[in-house]
Amino acid sequence: MNLMYTPATLPHHGEDEAVTVLLDDRPRRAMQALALSSMLFETAGFLVGPRPYKLPDGRYLVHATDSIPAEHTICKEGSVTFTQDTWRAANDAIAERYPDGSVVMLSWLHTHPGYGVFLSGLDVSIHRNFFTQIWHTATVLEPHRRTGGIFGWRKNFAGIIRLRFVWHWR
Ligand SMILES: [Zn+2]
Repeated sequence: MNLMYTPATLPHHGEDEAVTVLLDDRPRRAMQALALSSMLFETAGFLVGPRPYKLPDGRYLVHATDSIPAEHTICKEGSVTFTQDTWRAANDAIAERYPDGSVVMLSWLHTHPGYGVFLSGLDVSIHRNFFTQIWHTATVLEPHRRTGGIFGWRKNFAGIIRLRFVWHWR
């Protein structure tokens, strides 16, 4: 558990979001660097961490402690496609780094170089089809403006809302 977080650094608490997300500095920097490495084509990765647990207020605490770049993707201007090899490589990387099974995939991440922070219709369908836990999130980084968003479910899967993502310059 990273003890650097104080209540003031917790993401905004809407009353109906299903999760609160903590993102450690190391995966944040790694994913920001990944985003900045590709200013034309989209790029992608995954945030991982311990299996989320329910807080007393009913939200799940999602603590991203590590990240994995996505491999074997088809990255283009305006789209990124995950292949079967993408999922296999990510699961292999998690199993290799954490043979005790202590972390799970928490969020998929992709970039929108120069065109804003949102989930496209295709992004929403990827999220619905492959990330079926209520604590799964989708992260979008925009390297041109150095900004981003984490998208999570409302309670009871009642829609998807944007949570805060703070781009750190370090
Ligand atoms: Zn997208």
